[in-house]
Amino acid sequence: MKIDVLTLFPEMFRPVMESSMLGRAVAAGILQIKATDIRQFSHDKHNKADDYPFGGGGGMVMMADPVFGAMESVEAENKKVIYMSPRGKILDREKIEELSKIPEMVILCGHYEGVDQRALDHWNAEEISIGDYVLTGGELPAMVLIDSVARMIPGVLGNENSALDESVYSGLLEHPQYTKPREYRGLEIPEVLTSGNHKQIDLWRFKQSLALTKERRPDLLKRYLEQEHAFSKEERRILEEIMKMER
Ligand code: SAM
Repeated sequence: MKIDVLTLFPEMFRPVMESSMLGRAVAAGILQIKATDIRQFSHDKHNKADDYPFGGGGGMVMMADPVFGAMESVEAENKKVIYMSPRGKILDREKIEELSKIPEMVILCGHYEGVDQRALDHWNAEEISIGDYVLTGGELPAMVLIDSVARMIPGVLGNENSALDESVYSGLLEHPQYTKPREYRGLEIPEVLTSGNHKQIDLWRFKQSLALTKERRPDLLKRYLEQEHAFSKEERRILEEIMKMER
């Protein structure tokens, strides 16, 4: 997958492109991320990329001209264009899966009060929000989008991890996890996890997942129960037990 990010702050992307799993995916050539500085397409002698909004009001607006120049430089006319924006549809699992199948995309990061609407209209930008709150710029939202989409690309997580086993993707929230040491400052781990009985471990995890999802995300649990599942007798018993519990 090839991702062009258009931003006033390209230096923010280097640590993300060079670290952890994304860094490995970039090094392996599974993912290409290129951050382009919008300011270099300004025709102003001070490299100005923003100006006052027509109609008045506070703040500045990113000018159409440098954005057009940056879009043209990455040949955005042939690519999916996304504008990170609190006005957009909120990024969710379905959108992430849809985007993970697109081979080339351009992500425009806004700043100040946003981007001149003519640039968004011309480049047919889909607005995507990462949540109902406002950040100072689109760079962190773009990184959230890139990370969440990259995880869905085969090879990025390595063979041993499946993105679909995680919270939400599995339909439930994930059970608690523990690692060594077995006892830490007097705190023990649940005994079943060291029993070696994988069937009992799976049932314990299923029960924990159900209980957590019921408590924190009843909306997810409702959706999960509306789908078809081939529950075993033991799983069905656990499900009934959790559903009967007060909270
Ligand atoms: N004036 C804009 C509004 O009210 O919709 C908000 C502008 S915000 C201060 C600056 C930039 O940050 C936006 O252009 C956008 O790129 C980015 N941004 C802020 N919050 C965001 C969010 N929740 N999701 C995605 N991008 C966001």
